[in-house]
Order: sequence, then structure tokens, then C-alpha cells
Amino acid sequence: MIKVCKFGGTSMADANAIRQVKAIIDADKSRKFVVVSAPGKRNKNDIKITDMLYKCYGEVVATGKCESFAVIRSRFEEIVSDLELDCDITAVLDRTEKEIIENKSADFAASRGEYLSAYVTANYLGAKFVDAADLIRFDSKGKLNEEYTDDKVKTILDGVEFAVIPGFFGKDSFGKIKTFSRGGSDITGSIIARGVKADLYENWTDVSGFLVCDPRIVPEAKTIKQLTYKELRELSYMGASVLHSEAIFPVMKGKIPINIKNTFKPEDAGTMIVPNEMHKEDNETIITGIAGKKDFTVIYIEKSMMNAEVGFIRKVLSVVEHYGICVEHVPSGIDTVSIILASDQLEGILSDLVSEIRENVNPDYVHVIENVSLIATVGHGMAKRSGTAAKIFSSLAEKGINIKMIDQGSSELNIIIGVANSDYEDCIRTIYRAFN
Ligand code: ASP
Repeated sequence: MIKVCKFGGTSMADANAIRQVKAIIDADKSRKFVVVSAPGKRNKNDIKITDMLYKCYGEVVATGKCESFAVIRSRFEEIVSDLELDCDITAVLDRTEKEIIENKSADFAASRGEYLSAYVTANYLGAKFVDAADLIRFDSKGKLNEEYTDDKVKTILDGVEFAVIPGFFGKDSFGKIKTFSRGGSDITGSIIARGVKADLYENWTDVSGFLVCDPRIVPEAKTIKQLTYKELRELSYMGASVLHSEAIFPVMKGKIPINIKNTFKPEDAGTMIVPNEMHKEDNETIITGIAGKKDFTVIYIEKSMMNAEVGFIRKVLSVVEHYGICVEHVPSGIDTVSIILASDQLEGILSDLVSEIRENVNPDYVHVIENVSLIATVGHGMAKRSGTAAKIFSSLAEKGINIKMIDQGSSELNIIIGVANSDYEDCIRTIYRAFN
């Protein structure tokens, strides 16, 4: 049995948290590969090490020096001294500061948080330190080079009994350090899990799994016990933020389940994320989760006989593509189609975009609706039962919430509705309470 464990920033924030990490690792000998984030916030007003490192990079570019490194230095020195480690952290920090100044690279600077965190953790756990720079490789377009990376993970970690690996970065095709997007240590953990053919990828964080919806909106929201990869993809794309939305892909290929666990409540079962075939039927759960995002714009287009006009939707979408805009959803009717776009992409170009659509497809009517929120109600259970959509819509109608758009994914896994931004919270609360 092999488990890969990734510990997030709060689990690495100080010596106490790292002691907790050691207790978790010591409790189960199959926890052989440990991926760590940089130390995160110790309290609400604290600053994450990664943010400090980006600040250092800014200072290097502006002044050639990085005075903020002193804060990073003292955080790591404090951790090493509290854990009573016998390692020359001062020498490692001196070298790191010098390299940040010489490299003048935001990615290099940011990556050092995970590097130092893994160096200290490996020392404390008595494990081998394996640099992610030797394992993870991006291609010339900045995408993960899966073949190369898988091969390196397999060969370098083969025969290694117990290792700590920094998350968040690898090397680009020129051999320079490159990071994933923020929160990317989750992806590193997933890559390592696939590479070593782990039985389980444990992702240790500061919450006991995914909640059915945002607890700031629904304080009584329950924990999701089990999710499928597909459900997770829908929910995290729509804003559920426990796990990086791309972390699912590496383990998905290897069909390795992910268990989201709480470092500070290790006894909680957390959430299991599993492939479809491992999904256990549960007759009570119709809705797995509800997630949403604010600030979309809907361009509603009407034209008689649209359905008979070959290439109509393609022409509309090619205008949008010409502006370099990503399309979120395209719900359509017989003579209507709506294009849903994230509003932040449209600043300063919305009216030109709409005029160009008019010129290109000569519609009967075009209407723009701004300040729309999209809310996804996700669940495998929906496909097998009738009345789910009816329940959502009737509960919203009772509350007087106006639905501006409906889109049911063809997988029957997801019903997306659009409401005014001002109805966002109320809409999530209403759907949650209709099913719970
Ligand atoms: N430390 C990085 C961040 O704050 C990456 C991570 O923690 O996953 O985004």
C-alpha cells in the first residue's frame, strides 16, 4: 500500500502544525511520499511565505535587493529552532537569498517557499529530500510534459522508501524553474501519486473535506462524504476551492482516489473523491454539491429559423473567438442562443463585440444581460430521479427568485442556472434547503 500525502500551507505554517504533520505520517507507514506547500498564514492577518516571495521578486526588479527576505528568514529560523533541528538553515537561506537576486525570476522566487519547506520537513521527518525540479517538466508551451514527468517520477522515486518533495514547481523546457498557478502543490501531489502508482492520494488541509456549499452562505452546510471526479470537476470549476481545479487530471488517469483530510482533525473521515466505478450508490443523496460564481454577462440572440441556418452558432462564436474571449456556456433554443461570458473579459469591448455579432449574423433581436451569477447544482443522483429540476425551480419560484437562464449539461450531472448577482446567496440557500 502506498499513500502520497500533500500538506497545504496551514499545515506547514509553524512548528506546532509541522509536529501534527509528523504525528499523521508516523501513524501510518504507507504514507511514503510527502508533498508540501510553503508555510501559509498562522492567523488572519499573517502573510503567506509565497506572497512574501513575490514581494521579494518585485524588490529585486526595482532595487536589486530584497529586504523582505528578512521576514522569510526569520519564519524558517523560528520553525527550525522550535523543532530543535540540527541543520544549517542559515547557510541554506543565505544561498536562497543570493539565488533570488541573481535569478530575477518571479517563478524562481515563489518556488523557494516550497523548496525551503520541504528541506525543513525532510530533515524533521528523517526522510529523503527530492527536488521537484528533477521530477516535473513543462513543455515549450508551458503545459506539463506528462510523459517526461511520469518517467522521471518513476525512475527517481523507484526504490525510495520515504521522501519529501516540494510542491508548486518544476522546470520549463529551457531548464528554468517554473511554477504552476497559485495553489499548485495540489497538482504536484497528484502527479507524484500517479507516478508512483499510489493506492491513495491524501490531501491534508485545514478543513474536513468539501461542504455541500459555501458555509459563509449556508452555515449548516454538511460535508460531502463522497464525490466522483466528474462532480468535483464541475464543482471546482464553479468555485468550490478546497482543491486546485487541475489537480484531478493526473490521478484521474491512474484511477487513484483522493481523500481530503483535515490536519487538525485527523480523525474526521473527510471527503473521498473517486472514479465513477468506485462510486457507492447512496439513495439519500440527490444533490452532491452546489457552487457558483458571480459576474457573468449573457448575450441573448434571437433569429427566426435560426435552427435551419447552417453555421449560425459557429459564426457567433467565431466573433467571440476573434476577441480572444473564453465562452462559459452556450444554452440554445429553436430560434435563440445565449452566449455566457465572464464579465471581466469584456471591459471596454462589449459594445464592439455585440455590434460585430449583429453584422455577422443579422439577428432579429440581441439583448445583453449583465451582473449575472451562475449557480451549478451537481449530483450523479439527479440522472436517476425525476423531479430534481422541478424541485429547484419551484423552490426558487416560491422565494420570488427570477431565473434568467437554465443550462442542463448533457451528462445530466449538473443543472446550471443564471440569476441576478443580487440573488446569488439567496439562490444557493434556497436550493440547499430544498434538498436538506
Ligand atoms: N504556495 C503556493 C501558493 O500559495 C502553492 C501552494 O500552496 O499550493 O499558492
